[in-house]
Amino acid sequence: MKIPFDNSYVNLPAQMFVATAPTPVPAPALIIYNQALGDALGIQGDPDAAVFAGNLIPEGAAPIAQAYAGHQFGQWNPQLGDGRAVLLGEVVAADGTRRDIQLKGAGQTPFSRRGDGRAWLGPVLREYLVSEAMHALGVPTTRALAAVTTGQDIYREEILPGAIVTRVASSHIRVGTFQYFAARQDLAALQALTDHVIARHYPTATGPTDLLDQVIARTAKLVARWMGLGFIHGVMNTDNMSIAGETIDYGPCAFIDGFHPGQVFSAIDRQGRYAYANQPQIAAWNMAQFATALIPLMPDQDAAIEQFTQAVNRFGDIYLAQWRAVFAAKLGITAPVAEDTALITDLLDLMAVERTDFTSLFAQLSGENPRDLFIDRPAFDAWALRWHARRAPDFLKIMAGANPQIIPRNHQVEACIQSAVSGDFAPFHALLGAVTQPFAPLNAATAQFAKPPTDAELVKQTF
Ligand code: AMP
Ligand code: MG
Ligand code: MG
Repeated sequence: MKIPFDNSYVNLPAQMFVATAPTPVPAPALIIYNQALGDALGIQGDPDAAVFAGNLIPEGAAPIAQAYAGHQFGQWNPQLGDGRAVLLGEVVAADGTRRDIQLKGAGQTPFSRRGDGRAWLGPVLREYLVSEAMHALGVPTTRALAAVTTGQDIYREEILPGAIVTRVASSHIRVGTFQYFAARQDLAALQALTDHVIARHYPTATGPTDLLDQVIARTAKLVARWMGLGFIHGVMNTDNMSIAGETIDYGPCAFIDGFHPGQVFSAIDRQGRYAYANQPQIAAWNMAQFATALIPLMPDQDAAIEQFTQAVNRFGDIYLAQWRAVFAAKLGITAPVAEDTALITDLLDLMAVERTDFTSLFAQLSGENPRDLFIDRPAFDAWALRWHARRAPDFLKIMAGANPQIIPRNHQVEACIQSAVSGDFAPFHALLGAVTQPFAPLNAATAQFAKPPTDAELVKQTF
């Protein structure tokens, strides 16, 4: 296997990372290799489990752990960093974009603190499924290139099989990466990071002010896309917010089943900080932390505070326009206007009262008997009158392209993790095949994946 590495982060100031190799594992075995992605990255030859397990460092790799900080559930932590991920290096893909190739679960690094540096099979398969599904859904995201089992026992609350996912990202630079250097008043690194991010992700940005505006716009758009899919990220700490506007860190994430704006799937999120409906406000808060981290670069800091505050305050309007566009498409409406906001929220309010299955509702709303999807049919009828008045002539086509039939449903993800733990990966492969064709019409083989959970199947926690 040959990976055409072309590394750049290692050429940045030395305090930005630590050179560290993955820790070898006893028995690497390939679960899956993403051939199409590998091809797009210019990787040649047969996939090698030893490389994806970290046992063999491929030629041209320069393994590092990146330094970053972050606000975790609002609490400042000045020292996080890659505690269980090792960046092998970067490649320039066929489309000209630079991509990181990172092993997640590759063993301890200088940033591991008390952690074992490892991952178990469950989160590895969840990340693989959900990140590839998000890509197929058209949402900016990290990708999954490969997954391996390691033959190592992982100690959580029980003994679990170890695994490693190879993650591909536009970069792994986070809001927390900026915070790390700003908090240390390391202006040299902060400037080098900013220059790197502008060149790599925002080539039209003329400086920090412009960069902030563009990151805000991309982040607002990203979160609007999440909302339109009923996606709950689950751990929107500033260290899990990509500066490139990609979805990153699929830890306790989940897609909502029966709709409720306060839905949370993470057991550690006791206050519901990262609940579905809070995601836009949290993203804006994270953007405020990013703005704060850029202030030291500005010659006139008082003026910058003023200007950056205004930039962050614009997040809400940018987000609202994106959100409205996302949900308008889901309803077959082109050229949405301000009044469509009420049309959308009235539907969501009705869904919340009835806990309607989010994905099925939108997938079936353009079908023959949409009113059967509701308990309060008169309420739906009244809403539908307003909706019909706003629908575009080709609403069926617009809706089919905006509303997936299939998303990685929590109960199905859990079921295929259970099977995989007992050695059967067939359900994982079947689910992956279905969730990477989310807009395809259902057929006899895929219909099962479109079914909402029964009460007995319902998953209440993913973490
Ligand atoms: P997360 O909650 O996944 O965003 O992780 C927060 C921080 O904890 C990051 O610095 C991770 O690298 C680190 N971390 C998470 N799990 C482990 C682990 N098993 N071993 C070492 N570090 C970890
Ligand atoms: Mg993280
Ligand atoms: Mg995580």
